[in-house]
Amino acid sequence: MDGEQKLEGSTAKGRTGGRRVRLLFVLFAISLFFVMRQGLLPARWSPLPALDLSQPNAWLVDWRIAELKRDRDLCSRVLRAPLIAATPVRENPIKDGCGWENAVRISSAGGASLSVGTVSCEVAAGIAMWLAHEVQPLAQEIFGSRVTSVQHMGTYSCRNVLGRKWWFPARSQHAMANALDVSAFTLANGRQISVLRHWSGTGSEARFLREIHARACRYFRVAIGPEYNALHRDHFHYDRGALSRCK
Ligand SMILES: [Zn+2]
Repeated sequence: MDGEQKLEGSTAKGRTGGRRVRLLFVLFAISLFFVMRQGLLPARWSPLPALDLSQPNAWLVDWRIAELKRDRDLCSRVLRAPLIAATPVRENPIKDGCGWENAVRISSAGGASLSVGTVSCEVAAGIAMWLAHEVQPLAQEIFGSRVTSVQHMGTYSCRNVLGRKWWFPARSQHAMANALDVSAFTLANGRQISVLRHWSGTGSEARFLREIHARACRYFRVAIGPEYNALHRDHFHYDRGALSRCK
């Protein structure tokens, strides 16, 4: 009887120990997920290979873009020609929710001219990959022509989120230069494709816009366009904030 009780006791202890190990593992996995997603792990400690803009099917691309967030050296190593022409911008430490860290100026990305004054390294990397691996091949496939320039409606703007009431004033990702509003594309054959004019149609331009916008979700946390609300009827908003939303 004594022996049986001891055996039951040690089996119960074993079960509790097993549960503890599983709980620790789950907590570790959640912490790792959070740390990697927010780009909090210094790149030199990261188990992932540094982002390579030229890789079309890079795995865990969201986490690898996030590693650029705070690392200026890594940013300079990753944002290289011919996938992007970018130069670092002087730091403007964030005060009252506005400013930027680790930002760049862009003159071209993904083989198209794109002039952006100040944008976060993360958004710059996302734009270059999206243009090179999604937009250009699709333009070639649908129109038989490549995109030569991309038009946008701005990056940095010290303001709150528009069009939505929060119980506290929420800063837009634009207030940290962590967003880009893409509005139109010009192709090598002279064709112009704009979100405002072509999104609602049924032609090849609409198909092109809808497909490239859907594919942007891979590179950005928030990728919203005309379907999201009326404020976005003329542009795609792409950002690398903490929230996730694609529509
Ligand atoms: Zn925007």
